[in-house]
Amino acid sequence: MARQVKVFSGIFLAVLFSFLFTRSVWAKAITITPNTPDEAVFVSRVNSALHTLSLGKNPNVKALYQKIEASEKIILIAPITDDPKTRRHGSKERWHTDKDGKGGAIVYVPPHRISGKRDKEVNVFLHEFVHAHDILFNFYNKSVPVRERRATFFQNIYRSLEMKPLRADYHGEFPTLDYQKARESGKIDEVADYILNHNDLNDGANKSAA
Ligand SMILES: [Zn+2]
Repeated sequence: MARQVKVFSGIFLAVLFSFLFTRSVWAKAITITPNTPDEAVFVSRVNSALHTLSLGKNPNVKALYQKIEASEKIILIAPITDDPKTRRHGSKERWHTDKDGKGGAIVYVPPHRISGKRDKEVNVFLHEFVHAHDILFNFYNKSVPVRERRATFFQNIYRSLEMKPLRADYHGEFPTLDYQKARESGKIDEVADYILNHNDLNDGANKSAA
């Protein structure tokens, strides 16, 4: 009984803490409802990253945020668990975003990869939110390289802001240099705007493959 009370009060405090101090300001990106202390920690850390992302450090990121917030659909953020449904290729490590079957998206996050440290995962959330955006607005391209290059473009906007090394490939499978090229030609805003209004890439890659 004492242990139960302790667990219960632990959950209560963690939920209260996450609500009071790191509550997400996103209306359309929501987390699971925590049922255990571990899940409450997960939610609190996710909300902290979402809060940072919502501050809109950059006009292109802000435009993505505002578009998602204006959608009628929901993005659910859930932890990867032992349930195979939550995994891609069976992996516990791979962040990914799936359709929820109702027009919305589910972002699956490896809970042990959320550090709670300042801003560390924000660029990865941004990557997943481009996939979520594509699902919400029917821009989900059939081509994996097109989808991933779109997502990595925004991820690199954030990595650049944070002075982190830019992501140059997708797990060694294909290059993701769209941001780097756009920066060289002074077209970052143009490409970001294109991504938010089309389902492909402005170099013509998979123009009709949605
Ligand atoms: Zn991706």
